[in-house]
Amino acid sequence: MSDAYGKLLERMKDLGRLDAIEALLDWDQQVNMPPGGVEGRAEQLSLIAGLAHEWKTSDEVGQLLSEAKSDNGEFAATTNIREMARTFDRASRIPTELVKKIAHTTALAQNAWQTARAESDFAKFAPWLTQLLDLKRQEAEHIGYETEAYDALMDAFEPGAKSADVEALFKSLRDATVPLVKAIAEAPNPPDSSILTRHYSPSTQQTLSRAVAELLNFDFNQGRTDVSVHPFCTTIVPSSDVRLTSRYEENFLPAGMFGTMHEVGHGLYEQGLLKEHMFTPMGSAVSLGIHESQSRMWENMVGRSRAFWDFYYGHVQKTFPDVLGSVALDDFYRAVNTVSPSLIRVEADEVTYNLHIVLRFELEREMLSGRLAVKDVPTAWNEKMRDMIGIVPPDDARGCLQDVHWSMGAFGYFPTYALGNLYAAQFFEQASKDIADLPQRIAANDHAPLLGWLRENIHQHGQRYRAGELVEKITGKPLSIAPFVTYTKEKFSKVYQLA
Ligand code: ZN
Repeated sequence: MSDAYGKLLERMKDLGRLDAIEALLDWDQQVNMPPGGVEGRAEQLSLIAGLAHEWKTSDEVGQLLSEAKSDNGEFAATTNIREMARTFDRASRIPTELVKKIAHTTALAQNAWQTARAESDFAKFAPWLTQLLDLKRQEAEHIGYETEAYDALMDAFEPGAKSADVEALFKSLRDATVPLVKAIAEAPNPPDSSILTRHYSPSTQQTLSRAVAELLNFDFNQGRTDVSVHPFCTTIVPSSDVRLTSRYEENFLPAGMFGTMHEVGHGLYEQGLLKEHMFTPMGSAVSLGIHESQSRMWENMVGRSRAFWDFYYGHVQKTFPDVLGSVALDDFYRAVNTVSPSLIRVEADEVTYNLHIVLRFELEREMLSGRLAVKDVPTAWNEKMRDMIGIVPPDDARGCLQDVHWSMGAFGYFPTYALGNLYAAQFFEQASKDIADLPQRIAANDHAPLLGWLRENIHQHGQRYRAGELVEKITGKPLSIAPFVTYTKEKFSKVYQLA
């Protein structure tokens, strides 16, 4: 190891530690902090964001990078230097003042968004949205881009992704989804999903969720679960301190149950990163799309599979004997796989989910380019909902105010959710070839083979491969919609008894 690389590695790790402190403050804000703490927390987060930015872009780091670059190291060093250079280059273009302003504004905007959503009053959030769009446009201009500002922002979440490619992928996905949604809507014998909206005690749900997390091998020695308004997974120390949250709805079992499986999927990825590379790119997730592929795989391909419920339904039935005692396994399995147009993205079924993403992707690009004025967002949202999903939200709380992302200034984040679904299907198709008896293993409550496969093929590599490279390396093909389309067609043709 060269002297320069050794020093660079130490800077990288300190930066990782600083990011972890920021993550802890953010976790606390969402899980524990009283409302009165928001101003002080905004100042703390802004201070840390400014500090991290200064460290990231210091002359010393620049100097070390240019010295370490000529180093012919092994792949860990090559990966770390490549990614550190990428971070340095991107961050150096953004003035520290702007970084601090964005951190401060987003902490306050999240608070304003919560109020606006609770009161379903878009006007209370609109000025913040305008401000954040303006700040993020400035950021994109500083970073630079080839064709559109959106690319510069999306690159933070999905390195290398381009709007034009995502647009083409989403178009073919939408074209493939619409006929399936139509066929399902016309199926004569739909599942009875009302069994899921009976009364389920939140505290019992919480106990059950912990059991599910343990079942799927989430390690509580290196993680914990809590309750928050919006479920999320955050990492305080990679591989060793991974935190999940869920929310439990009294009259909707899937929110807590599948929400937990989803966050567990994220958590397993974070717990699977190698300790020896902690706080460096080699010990970090590839991209948000790849991260989401892990959560969606455990939530849907495992958690909503017939094999999983063959094993687990008896236990859930015993946990809620009054509500599920007389419900047959087949009816429960079909109910948790109900496909129907819905208002809320996080509760959408596997088939219509991506349409919610396409809608947000289109709106964000229009907002960022200025083609869509902030005041017109609710109307535009409702029109797209009607055109794409076939229903119109009765209020903005269940429409354009439902998601936290815009209040976080996270424009360009949404596409990673649909990309995650596509990655998940392509990975799962390959895992099903590599693990010959995968459904039988799942039905036998043995999740180790799939987790082992993910650890070996994805988790252990950190950022060694970019998302596109990783997909090709594992499956032999570039990312495509085909595995997802095949998976949904096969699964839902059975669930809905389609010809
Ligand atoms: Zn997720």
